[in-house]
Amino acid sequence: MTWPEIKEVIKEERIAVVPVAIIEEHGYHLPVDTDLVLVTEVCIRTGRKIPGDIVVIPPVNHGYAPHQMDFPGVISISGETFTRYVTDVCTSLAHQGFKKILLVNGHGSNVSFLQIAARATILEYPEVMCVAISYWDLQPVVDTAARIRESRNPGGMNHACELETSMYLSIREDLVQMDKAVRDLDRFTVSKYFWLDLVGQGEGRPVLMIPYWSSISETGTLGDPTTATKEKGRQLLAAAVEGLTEFIGIFKHRTSRSRVSHLP
Ligand SMILES: [Zn+2]
Repeated sequence: MTWPEIKEVIKEERIAVVPVAIIEEHGYHLPVDTDLVLVTEVCIRTGRKIPGDIVVIPPVNHGYAPHQMDFPGVISISGETFTRYVTDVCTSLAHQGFKKILLVNGHGSNVSFLQIAARATILEYPEVMCVAISYWDLQPVVDTAARIRESRNPGGMNHACELETSMYLSIREDLVQMDKAVRDLDRFTVSKYFWLDLVGQGEGRPVLMIPYWSSISETGTLGDPTTATKEKGRQLLAAAVEGLTEFIGIFKHRTSRSRVSHLP
């Protein structure tokens, strides 16, 4: 797009959608760009569905994963830098007139920093709404995953897992080395409160304690990618697009009230 075209998009009050991911290992079988490819695909397909409602900004490629650094191919940036960087992206969009900004996340460990970046944007631009959501938290993804999953719940859908591998298969089957996919989830001890799964359900609300990844995964994978199929991926991707479309419809109509000072 050119800047005059972007000016029009701002005047149309479209929502700025920013995919956010990371470059990091995804087991023996998936490329290091997995999170980036998946979340960008979800956003672009959504954009094609509702072109008048959103504009998809080029993605934030890098994210937070210092616990992954025992594996080659991981590019992690510090939490402070990441938060500042994403906030700067959002405040640039806010400065230029976008009134609603949606960060769509594709990497688990980005979540807490994106929440802070969205909040910092609102604090600086109170007339702007900025929010972050991970695509696997969209309700149709949760429902579809529950319906189609064959891997252990919780644990089978976490990282380079049944979910991510299926989705990558449905986008670029030729880049997935299924013959190298292995089930790897037994090094993480599951108990009440301590369980990891993007879309699953364990006992008790999950309490996140993420150690160095190499201490809980031998292969980089955490989950069971051997149960992944292209058809499951097609359904999960469609569910993510459906969920994001619905979310944008809700966000689009959301209104806010002005702040009020009660200070003396
Ligand atoms: Zn991933």
